[in-house]
Amino acid sequence: MNNTLYIVIPCYNEEEALPLTGRTMLEKLRALAGSGRISGESRVLLVDDGSRDGTWRMIEKLAEDFPEYCGVKLSGNRGTQSAIMAGLAFAEKLADMAITTDADLQDDVNAIDKMVDEFLSGADIVYGVRSKRETDTVFKRVTAVTFYRLLRLLGCGVVFNHSDFRLLSRRAMSALGEYPERDLFVRGIVPMLGFKSAVVTYERSERSAGETKYSFRSLLRLAASGVASLSLKPLRLIMLLGAVMMLISAAGLIAALAAGGVTTAGLTLSSVWFVGGIVTCALGIVGEYAGRAYMEAKRRPRYHIEATAGINTKPEH
Ligand code: UDP
Ligand code: MG
Repeated sequence: MNNTLYIVIPCYNEEEALPLTGRTMLEKLRALAGSGRISGESRVLLVDDGSRDGTWRMIEKLAEDFPEYCGVKLSGNRGTQSAIMAGLAFAEKLADMAITTDADLQDDVNAIDKMVDEFLSGADIVYGVRSKRETDTVFKRVTAVTFYRLLRLLGCGVVFNHSDFRLLSRRAMSALGEYPERDLFVRGIVPMLGFKSAVVTYERSERSAGETKYSFRSLLRLAASGVASLSLKPLRLIMLLGAVMMLISAAGLIAALAAGGVTTAGLTLSSVWFVGGIVTCALGIVGEYAGRAYMEAKRRPRYHIEATAGINTKPEH
């Protein structure tokens, strides 16, 4: 292998976006190979995340018609993070570097050139970072910024305004594969790998075709997974909160006793509800972590491969 690039694209019900995305990526790959920066063995790897439309048929056809395409089909819908991990498991065996990007061309394909250049000058990880968020709705912008702030506050080293558009060298891919957790929040783990990294900025555009595959619910799930898989701080905050409450109530009691000790029934009632709410919340947070520990303890596989197209090797994990 000699600077072989795999562009890994998770696809879930993307039959509307795939024709244009496929063509654009193929042209990019050929241009890069033509300039000698990547090898002729480079491929566009399309990972079908259990789509229910004609996505897989389309991928098979592309792989049949052009040697530059190949495909992997997961047996069911496992979510973007697992689809990315499945693609990278193949790319690690077949390529020197892989770039993950969405199927809707929201990530600027021209940033791929800069990512490859950074790889050629020695970077193992290149983050694609959005320079602005003008094409997002105000709601998405506000929730996204809040999410990044929250993660930072909780001590996770996420890269601001970076999602899943990134280049990984082969050793970064295999290091990522060593993280055994099933519930993997890739963008939270990659900075932990510690290899030499670089940043490429780009402007994010509108989805080229089709609808977003993320509902508000699945975004919330991703955010919860991001926080809970990366940080134990919420648990510690609960302890702190309990300690502060104890101190305040002790101080209040002393003050009330000193002043003659009059308490009204209303005050008692509201404080009971207040403490009850905090205890319930705390239990919920503890339960969330306990539940996640339980799920991880099962060590279930992240995905199953149902079919491949244009690929002969199988990854080990
Ligand atoms: N995707 C996936 N599995 C899912 C949902 C989404 O593989 O369960 C893919 C999807 O096809 C796309 C990428 O993940 O390539 C990002 O999804 P989308 O563009 O819908 O998210 P958004 O950009 O709106 O956050
Ligand atoms: Mg998108």
